Amino acid sequence: MTCPDQQDNRPPPARALQGIGVSPGIVAATVVVFKRRTVRAGWHHLPPDHIEHEVDRFAGAIKAAGDELLLLREKLADDLADALSIIDSHLLMLKDKMIVERTIGIIRHKNVNAEWALAQALSEIKERFDRIDDSYIRERFTDIKHVADRVFGLLSGREHQPFAGEGQAVILVANDFSPEDTLRMQAGNVHGFLTEKGGVTSHTAIVARALGLPAVVGLEHATSLLTTGDAIILDGGSGQIVLDPAPEEMRRVQEENRCDGLLADELARYIHLSSETADGVAVRLSANIETLAELPAVLHFGSDGIGLFRSELDYFNNRRPPNEEQLVAIYQQLLAAMSPHPVTVRTLDVGGDKFLNRFPGNKAWLDRERNPALGLRSIRFSLYEREIFRSQLRALFRASVHGRLRILLPLVSAPAELRQAKEIVAEVLAELAENGYSVAQGVELGIMVEVPSAVVMADVFAAEVDFFAIGTNDLIQFSLAIDRGNQYVAHLYEPFHPAVLRMIRQTVEAGHACNISVSLCGEMASDPLCVPVLLGMGLDELSMRPAVVPRIRRLLRHCRSDELRQISRQALQCGDSDQVRDMLARQLPALCPKEFYQ
Ligand code: PEP
Ligand code: MG
Repeated sequence: MTCPDQQDNRPPPARALQGIGVSPGIVAATVVVFKRRTVRAGWHHLPPDHIEHEVDRFAGAIKAAGDELLLLREKLADDLADALSIIDSHLLMLKDKMIVERTIGIIRHKNVNAEWALAQALSEIKERFDRIDDSYIRERFTDIKHVADRVFGLLSGREHQPFAGEGQAVILVANDFSPEDTLRMQAGNVHGFLTEKGGVTSHTAIVARALGLPAVVGLEHATSLLTTGDAIILDGGSGQIVLDPAPEEMRRVQEENRCDGLLADELARYIHLSSETADGVAVRLSANIETLAELPAVLHFGSDGIGLFRSELDYFNNRRPPNEEQLVAIYQQLLAAMSPHPVTVRTLDVGGDKFLNRFPGNKAWLDRERNPALGLRSIRFSLYEREIFRSQLRALFRASVHGRLRILLPLVSAPAELRQAKEIVAEVLAELAENGYSVAQGVELGIMVEVPSAVVMADVFAAEVDFFAIGTNDLIQFSLAIDRGNQYVAHLYEPFHPAVLRMIRQTVEAGHACNISVSLCGEMASDPLCVPVLLGMGLDELSMRPAVVPRIRRLLRHCRSDELRQISRQALQCGDSDQVRDMLARQLPALCPKEFYQ
């Protein structure tokens, strides 16, 4: 059968691009595509009496590069320890024999100019790095390249191009940025950056995280796909770029980013009010975060706790997973800062879209998965790499005395996985007791409900855990078989799909039948249009981006629980998502003003 109209009927690809999110935060701004003038290392034969002059010129460029780095280092705040050590490592590279002596040797022996000699030395170093198996060490060649680029620039007399014009907020797009470029972005009005190259463990990514600058890397052809002046929303957590978003969507993100008293007075009132419906039913409104750097925002916007601490990023800064002591220090700060509010720490959720193939180390499973979305990820990874899991659990329990801890296991799909994890938890607790560590009483253990099998088995799981956290980001993807990072199908990703709503309801009912609390921490909880439907299903907690807490609290406090239940009932009766949206458009105006849910 032929389909002559198929071409016309196809939905246009969504205006979304997918890179690797390496530094969390969502920003909306116009793009500046930053194209470096490439310095061509042309070959020039030099007369013998010019050789020493050329060596001096190269030595001068090396010295100037060192001076620039020292100057940048002096300007850095002491608390940017990661960034400081990266600059120090670049300073050391400027003394490296393979770069300096080799380049001088080539100038002298081949009677050539410094640029060509440096390019030669660099390609010899690259050959050596290409032969190294360990992907983390291989990636360090990028640092050598960044340092060499600085020297090339100085040899050609190139000035630093300014990153951004006066005043206007921008997101920078380039083939690559060095860690030092990233540090220079602090001075401009740069709200985030996007590169074609790079990975989670690149030093550029580490500096971006240290500065709290949202960043997405590894998006091939970004400099051709985007043009200076394009409006985009960049999500440094998920790695998603939305091109040309609706103006109200841009405004919403920009408003959310305006911290420190700049919230409209009307909304700011809700920072300090309690989270309850108009008739006094309490619902916890907590925050999703990935780094300690986000704690000030969590406290500023008045969250009732941390509903999801994504613990992955702490594993990507170094060649090896962090050791137990480093983790204890992080979790301790987190718990103490939020006490007496609860903090839900999700154990390592690597795999799938979360960079298993970039995980530090040199393991057999690296780069080998054909279908990572369904592969060795999340709890399965922890049960496979048990020492990494045990070390994280030990750190969590040791830190537990500093606050109110809940431990959350990601992507559990079968009761056997939960039972194995619980056995490991019991062993870790026995070990800690034996070694004399105190552990808080009442640390709760819960699972993410984010695959359909967990929903179907929710009654079994509910009898064996202390709480559920519904992860709708994954649940929607897995139940509808939609990769929302895929531009051809992303428009089918639909939170109001009746199957999704029914699964949420089923999970809440199963949890409540066993008297355990049920939260929801996917993006749906940050969307004020979804929230009335979710609240009406009886969720005990919604966990969202910190900045949206006041907005969701305003909505919560204006609605009565019986009205919300009625909205949910009607949504659950709808046969498709359009009907849900139509119903909401009709019913919500009676509940609260439009701006509360738009
Ligand atoms: C989810 O799947 O909804 C969730 C919160 O987890 P993540 O987005 O980190 O996969
Ligand atoms: Mg998930």
